[in-house]
Amino acid sequence: MAKTKAIVFDLDDTLYPERAYAFSGFEAVSRAFISRLGVTFDLAARMRELFDTSDRHRVFNVIVAECGIGDEVGIVREMIAMFRAHRPTIRLHADADAALSRLRPLYKLGAITDGYAVTQHAKLDALGIRQRVDAIIVTDDFGREFWKPHPRAFEEMSERLDVAHQHCVYVADNPAKDFVAPNALGWRTVLIERPDRVHSGNPIADGGVPDETVTTLETI
Ligand SMILES: [Mg+2]
Repeated sequence: MAKTKAIVFDLDDTLYPERAYAFSGFEAVSRAFISRLGVTFDLAARMRELFDTSDRHRVFNVIVAECGIGDEVGIVREMIAMFRAHRPTIRLHADADAALSRLRPLYKLGAITDGYAVTQHAKLDALGIRQRVDAIIVTDDFGREFWKPHPRAFEEMSERLDVAHQHCVYVADNPAKDFVAPNALGWRTVLIERPDRVHSGNPIADGGVPDETVTTLETI
């Protein structure tokens, strides 16, 4: 096996719990919209409840419908915009925090993350990891068509870190999209399976089988 020189991490559900981001967003949206929606129940609590149902991807639509107000499309769009742009209250997983400190003197470190640019940059700021890695790529900064599994972020990361592909490792949580490009380029790939992850049970993409599976970053 080629010697490892660079370790690159995914963000959501790899370095911090994505669920916590959603809940943080629900708090922000609830605070901003509770009077407009005219409800007396705990709006954020209802959103958290819906997150664990098949309505996860239409939480705000369901909430607005339950409030029985009109103009559903308009207000839902505003709620989504606020959710995506809010300044989240999130923290690194303890093992991720420790791993970044432990690995920093030993390897080049990086992060590659998908998602809306405004959202992912707000998460990076909230987690305070910009100074803790050597390079960060938010794929959406290139455009929607460059989200994983597009290889561009991995090609560019190898260049920015000045480490050849076969010496790079990518650690991520979603085998439906995370490992296709790095596998094809010759990176070693590591799946982290966290118990509370959002993308549990996703089918593995063609060419997306990880080389290794771990349950904590303590052993990386
Ligand atoms: Mg992820």
